[in-house]
Amino acid sequence: MLYASTRGKYDPVPAAGAIKMGIAPDGGLFVPTRRITLSTEDIQTMARLSYQQRAVKILEPFLTDFTTEQIRKAVDCAYNSASFDHPEVAPLAELDEGLNVLELWHGPTCAFKDMALQILPHLLVKSMKKTGENAGILILVATSGDTGKAALEGFKDVPGTAIMVFYPEKGVSEVQKMQMVTQEGGNVGVYAVRGNFDDTQSGVKAIFGDTTMQRTVAEHGYKFSSANSINWGRLVPQIVYYFSAYADLLSRGRLKPGDEVNFVVPTGNFGNILAGFYARQMGLPVHRLVCAANENNVLTDFITSGTYDRNRVFKRTISPSMDILISSNLERLLYELTDHDALRVRQWMADLTAKGRYTVDDITRERVQTIFWSDFADDTATISSIKSTYHRYGYVVDTHTAVGLYVYERYRRTTGDNRPTVVLSTASPFKFNASVARALLDEEQTAGRDEFALLQMLSEFSGLPVPPGLNGLAERSVRHTTVVDSNQMPNAVLDFVIKRKRMRVSL
Ligand SMILES: *Cc1c(COP(=O)(O)O)cnc(C)c1O
Repeated sequence: MLYASTRGKYDPVPAAGAIKMGIAPDGGLFVPTRRITLSTEDIQTMARLSYQQRAVKILEPFLTDFTTEQIRKAVDCAYNSASFDHPEVAPLAELDEGLNVLELWHGPTCAFKDMALQILPHLLVKSMKKTGENAGILILVATSGDTGKAALEGFKDVPGTAIMVFYPEKGVSEVQKMQMVTQEGGNVGVYAVRGNFDDTQSGVKAIFGDTTMQRTVAEHGYKFSSANSINWGRLVPQIVYYFSAYADLLSRGRLKPGDEVNFVVPTGNFGNILAGFYARQMGLPVHRLVCAANENNVLTDFITSGTYDRNRVFKRTISPSMDILISSNLERLLYELTDHDALRVRQWMADLTAKGRYTVDDITRERVQTIFWSDFADDTATISSIKSTYHRYGYVVDTHTAVGLYVYERYRRTTGDNRPTVVLSTASPFKFNASVARALLDEEQTAGRDEFALLQMLSEFSGLPVPPGLNGLAERSVRHTTVVDSNQMPNAVLDFVIKRKRMRVSL
């Protein structure tokens, strides 16, 4: 299988090349050149397989330059009982007849990014070797919270890799900060940056683009790489759980082979839901993909009108992982729905850069609307969704999942569609515990409490244990205390590679 760029100005490469490069040199995103289809029988067979076996089945046709053994090894390194606190990895909870919640947060950081970031490092190391690259991989991440910790957990102690994470000193929650500064592992660096997330991100981008820096880290045996959500190596593992959820419904007798389902996806960068689109293209019987947004509802507007317009006020919400105005992965969808018309994609992306908006043609818009449906929840609706889900089903959800459940309710009421539905749950309720505790507990109880106290209160209230990744966090020892100005970030990188080289020499 070869991967082409959505901008059409780069010759297709095998999976290893696409994963190693992350973004195509012409600025586009890598997409498979061929469509893979599974038969009804193939999907039926999955009902009897474990999550790990299902993963191998899905990854194989996409990673044809990897051997089955290499894929199996990567899958086993990623989805095992040391990292996931549930034997089914991504279990499906049934709330009601036809309403299921796919729990994608049983990994080490309690959010769905673990599903991809636990396996990406293993795919990346193999991809480097396959493309004749002998340098170690140095991953740089700018994070507003979630991705940084998930990347740290994914790359921690993976041979041949090192990772540096930069976060805005005052721009992450207490829990997120503690998760990062207590990070263990011999190949990790965590740095607070004086400034906001934009300063941090610009700092990382500048380092990536600095050829002198590239040369200097190369002299110390490293090559920069990124782990961001446009890498095909992050997208492809996400296709697995759509099939897995369907297979579970088959094995429970909730579906007959070929029956259609809907998936509802709390969406930010359009990566998760795009994996659902690829699953549908591969023959998974998906009726609608429901795109659930928060008040940053740029995608809802796009799906209903055909115009993508980022010229709007950025809103901070209680579902912060969906606070995004540029959904990068949408570019892949446009490429697929225009039958691989790179020229048109280039024009729309040029419009987005120049004017902050673009409008697709009528046919593309109709294609989008055949597959997707979208609405959004504001913070008030999100809180009431947490409350009503608890009162109706005795089930505790986080703020992002609550957005999904609210939008699903709207979808059902608007369309009357009663097909079995799977709502993707993207974070544990303990991950964004402050908002969840405030929704479920009395105001007098929660007033003035810090996040760590609320974590315990939520556990006592719900009878659910605090997940391993968050338990005892406040007592863990702080290992990373460096604070830098954004213009000192290159020096931090140099110090890091020099120190690591000395460590290697002394071994
Ligand atoms: C990243 C994230 C999302 C958004 O996923 P996209 O792939 O960016 O659409 C939703 N919920 C949570 C908890 C996340 O961490």
